[in-house]
This record gives sequence, C-alpha cells and structure tokens, in this order.
Amino acid sequence: MWGVRPHPRTGRLFASPVAPGTGWPGDPATPQTPVAADPAQVSALAGEVHSIPELDALVSVCRACPRLVAWREQAAVIKRRAFADQPYWGRPVPGWGSQQPRLLILGLAPAAHGGNRTGRMFTGDRSGDQLFAALHRAGLVSSPSSVDAADGLRANRIRITAPVRCAPPANKPAPEEQVTCSPWLEAEWRLVSGHVRVIVALGGFAWQVALRLVEHAGIRKPLFSHGALAELPSGLRVLGCYHPSQQNMFTGKLTPAMLDAIFTDAKTMAGIR
Ligand code: SF4
Repeated sequence: MWGVRPHPRTGRLFASPVAPGTGWPGDPATPQTPVAADPAQVSALAGEVHSIPELDALVSVCRACPRLVAWREQAAVIKRRAFADQPYWGRPVPGWGSQQPRLLILGLAPAAHGGNRTGRMFTGDRSGDQLFAALHRAGLVSSPSSVDAADGLRANRIRITAPVRCAPPANKPAPEEQVTCSPWLEAEWRLVSGHVRVIVALGGFAWQVALRLVEHAGIRKPLFSHGALAELPSGLRVLGCYHPSQQNMFTGKLTPAMLDAIFTDAKTMAGIR
C-alpha cells in the first residue's frame, strides 16, 4: 500500500492516519467503534459511555470538528521531516494512564507532531519531554521519557487528558471546537472523579476548564497562576501550573524545579506513594 511506514518500535506497517483496529499499540478502537460525526453525536455517545476503555475507543475515532479532522490528517500525511519515515496516528488522542487515578493532569490539546504522531498524550514533543521527566522525578511514571505508545511506560495512579483531543492549527482550538469536544472530558470526569483527589491544570485554559468540571456552588475560584489552589468541600483540590511549553521552559518562566515543586505537592495531596 502506498505511503505505509513501519512503527518506530514494533516495525509493523501502518498508513497515516492509522485505521482503527489495525494493530497500533494501545489502539482502543475497532473498525466497528461508532464514529461521532457532529456535536450532537459527541453528546449522545459521551452521555452513554460506561467505562474508560469504551470512552477511549469512541474518542479515538471522533470526526465531529471538520477543521481539526482536516488538520490532524494533513499533518499525518505531510509529516515533519524528522519523522518522515514514521507513520502518524493522525486521530484524536484519548486520555492516558490509570483508569482509577488519584491525580488528573489536564493539558490543552495534542501537538500535530507529538501526540498526533504517537497516539499518546504529551508524547513525542518538547512539552511532553519536560512533563514526563518531572513526573518521573516525582515517582508518578515509570520512565523519564515517553517516546511512543509501545514503550511500556506505566502510570502511578495518574491520568493525563485534555479538553480538546485533536491537534489544532497553531495550538489554538476555536471556541466552538472546545464546546464540541467538551462532552468527552465530562464523560471522563464522570468515570474517574470518584477516585481523583487532585487535578493539576497546565495553563490558564486548563485551569478554567478544570474549575468548570468540578463546578461547586460557593467555592472560591482563584485566578490562574502558577501554584494557584482551589479547594472543594469534598477535599478535591485543583492546582495551577504553567504549561511546560517550549516557550515557557526556554524563557525560564517555568523551570524543572518549579515543575518538581508542583508534582511533589500534588502527589502528597493525592496520597500517592
Ligand atoms: S476535537 Fe474532540 S470533538 Fe472535535 S473531532 Fe477531535 S475528538 Fe472530536
């Protein structure tokens, strides 16, 4: 078949984007997984989902945002030169990690040549390199680097997810795309919230989304800042952290020591050993 490339770890051949159920490591979907084609179908499917594996499968084949579907698939076909010999996942990226997390980490959206290439949140780009290194120093993942979906990385009671699951142009999802994608995160929250003690929100957008997610009348809602803390009567805490973007790390706005302080605190608050 034209355009197929070997997966960089397994060597198995894939077209880009990857067809559901064709053997990509960790692919939660099958050719029979229902495809949401518009916002109403996202709401309907997300509203009925009963488990994380079911949710991950539905998310991973969603086609409800025409602009984002076109962008993620175009990036998968054209590729970045450094990854020209690889297949690209080219589909929405489901949450990654524990199905019963005590700590939930919320980003923004996958990167076109990171998660959109590897099929795992924050994997394969500079932000992810910083994030996973910090998570490993805190004892929250099993390896300092997350390279691809077959690298054997394990999570220690954490889950990483995002309010938008497809790579957006310029890393900026449109407001209507944020709204369309929101039922997937709401479903994920419904399924994991009984276990979560702490949410770490990476950046101001994730902070707003997290506070909406845990909406509780009467709680004080601080503005976003690095280290901002919102506490719910249930004991759930939302912790703000600058996004580990290349720009934030390069300019020193966010340093590895600052990331370490956040994840050390979050681990303690979440009661993770
Ligand atoms: S951004 Fe969300 S709702 Fe839109 S196509 Fe991707 S997964 Fe579906």
